[in-house]
Amino acid sequence: MASVSTRLLARQEVAQGTLAFHLAKPAGFDFKPGQAFEILLPAAPAGSSGQDAGHAFSIVSAPHEHDLVFATRMRDSAYKRALGALEIGAPLEIDGPFGSLTLHRKAERAGVLIAGGIGITPFISMIRHAVHSRSPQALALVYSNRRPEDTAFLAELQAHARALPHFTLHATMTDMAHSSHTWDGATDMVDAAFVQRATQGLPAPIYYVSGPPELVQAMRQTLAQAGVDEDDVRSEEFFGY
Ligand SMILES: Cc1cc2nc3c(=O)[nH]c(=O)nc-3n(C[C@H](O)[C@H](O)[C@H](O)COP(=O)(O)OP(=O)(O)OC[C@H]3O[C@@H](n4cnc5c(N)ncnc54)[C@H](O)[C@@H]3O)c2cc1C
Repeated sequence: MASVSTRLLARQEVAQGTLAFHLAKPAGFDFKPGQAFEILLPAAPAGSSGQDAGHAFSIVSAPHEHDLVFATRMRDSAYKRALGALEIGAPLEIDGPFGSLTLHRKAERAGVLIAGGIGITPFISMIRHAVHSRSPQALALVYSNRRPEDTAFLAELQAHARALPHFTLHATMTDMAHSSHTWDGATDMVDAAFVQRATQGLPAPIYYVSGPPELVQAMRQTLAQAGVDEDDVRSEEFFGY
């Protein structure tokens, strides 16, 4: 895959310790909602082995949007320190797009998106695309975070849920004991009963799972036990965040 050049346009906090990076979209760069790309820094970060110059991220923005956007928790790694220190206007290289975590075409089948934490990123692109294209497809988003302050894009998702008859949001905060915000929604862990409540009445759902490896594994197991065909459960492995 040949890489293409871009530059950093802006950086914005989308949750506590979580930044979204806006990049200039190179001419002809096409992707599908849910796909990812690799972002290569201009130089290998100081203190890294030299193999840490690139990192894969889901694309947050939808294809119709002007900028390319990705988001990540700013953990303390050599790559993320270097990413966070980039000046606005800094050059970057993009490899991609790649990945097959894209929404199925049969609009008569519902899409159930199950996200943990910053694993929400590929689903934001799908949901923005559905809003933009006025898709008639039923979509349910199950979104688990520890606390409201950790929950990226929450206000946007709540607004879509109010505006779109085909889209439902089922957010839960699993660690409110450590939150300084208020939350009057669900606080339970996502499990079989939670998913069943969120998906009741949806036509022939196909499930997409994105988030911490433990959540992805638990959801695969839960859905298999509920009798969901494994072809109807889609996720991708993303490690090293
Ligand atoms: C397809 C895919 C795309 C991704 N794209 C990106 C990206 O673009 N950018 C990025 O930074 N990261 C991405 N990730 C990485 C992924 O989301 C990380 O693992 C994430 O950083 C986890 O940390 P967190 O702090 O967000 O989650 P946490 O705060 O650790 O967890 C989020 C929620 O999951 C719940 N949870 C954890 N385990 C379970 C379980 N077993 N059962 C039920 N609930 C559970 C927690 O209670 C919590 O509410 C992606 C992962 C996948 C699979």
